[in-house]
Amino acid sequence: MSVNIHNLNIFHIFEEKHMNLFSFTANFDSEKACRLHFKEERDKIGIQCKCGCKDHFWIKSIWSYECKKCRSRISLRSGTIMQSSKLSFLTWYKTMFLMSATKKGFSSKEIQKQLKQKRYEPVWAMVHKFRLKIYQIIIYFNTYNFLKIN
Ligand SMILES: [Zn+2]
Repeated sequence: MSVNIHNLNIFHIFEEKHMNLFSFTANFDSEKACRLHFKEERDKIGIQCKCGCKDHFWIKSIWSYECKKCRSRISLRSGTIMQSSKLSFLTWYKTMFLMSATKKGFSSKEIQKQLKQKRYEPVWAMVHKFRLKIYQIIIYFNTYNFLKIN
């Protein structure tokens, strides 16, 4: 079972802190705040280049890492659930919050409305990725517990 640890970690913050709308808005009031938080979480796990090197420079102006060995660049998004999405970090964070805030969860349509997004397709794709990720997490933890108990 391959679970991208980046996504696991990011999702967990919302559960652990029992975040409400007030604390969410206080912590993540801007695109920059979300990006900085995401970087912080990603740095905790570490970045590995395709050449195997784990040492990187951080290029602030383009929100990217640069491998110290081969100079390859890795954007903050690449290798994460947000890869290939054009939606802002703030939109992803808000969606994560909406999806974890209620037991029943919001539908893609409702999230589109809440976030005032013009197009439905990117919102649907994002929600779909989250659902898939949540499902993987459930399977991952069930498998883990199963292995641990036995
Ligand atoms: Zn490299």
